[in-house]
Amino acid sequence: MVFLGADASQPMQKREKSFGIQMLSVQPDTKPKGCAGCNRKIKDRYLLKALDKYWHEDCLKCACCDCRLGEVGSTLYTKANLILCRRDYLRLFGVTGNCAACSKLIPAFEMVMRAKENVYHLDCFACQLCNQRFCVGDKFFLKNNMILCQTDYEEGLMKEGYAPQVR
Ligand SMILES: [Zn+2]
Ligand SMILES: [Zn+2]
Ligand SMILES: [Zn+2]
Ligand SMILES: [Zn+2]
Repeated sequence: MVFLGADASQPMQKREKSFGIQMLSVQPDTKPKGCAGCNRKIKDRYLLKALDKYWHEDCLKCACCDCRLGEVGSTLYTKANLILCRRDYLRLFGVTGNCAACSKLIPAFEMVMRAKENVYHLDCFACQLCNQRFCVGDKFFLKNNMILCQTDYEEGLMKEGYAPQVR
């Protein structure tokens, strides 16, 4: 038996478009570099180097949440000319996996249902015999990777003639 939990999806790990951010100290005798964010010269003691460009620490920001990317773990993510922090990138462009019921991809920003290793669209998560939908906390059963409500699960067991196994 599995109890149903809803959770915001967890991000994929592979195929992320992440780029490192380096913090460099500026040598006083070198010509100041131009910032790729604001196009002004960088006269600070430190600058950031990312995507083969130089940035003020304040100018390398996530396009979504405005956090300073030099501070949040020295990686950035890009897509469609946006520079994003990991969280926003995954929220916007990540993929959770394939729905175990309809086999379509589930984008990371969608709420999903999880049962063991399987993920499901909220809409796809229903008893595959009677289409009963489940709420968080409801009991459901997985049998041969089919989602079943308690009634159908127990009926199936009765037909097959063996005792219910709680799992
Ligand atoms: Zn700048
Ligand atoms: Zn962000
Ligand atoms: Zn689905
Ligand atoms: Zn059912």
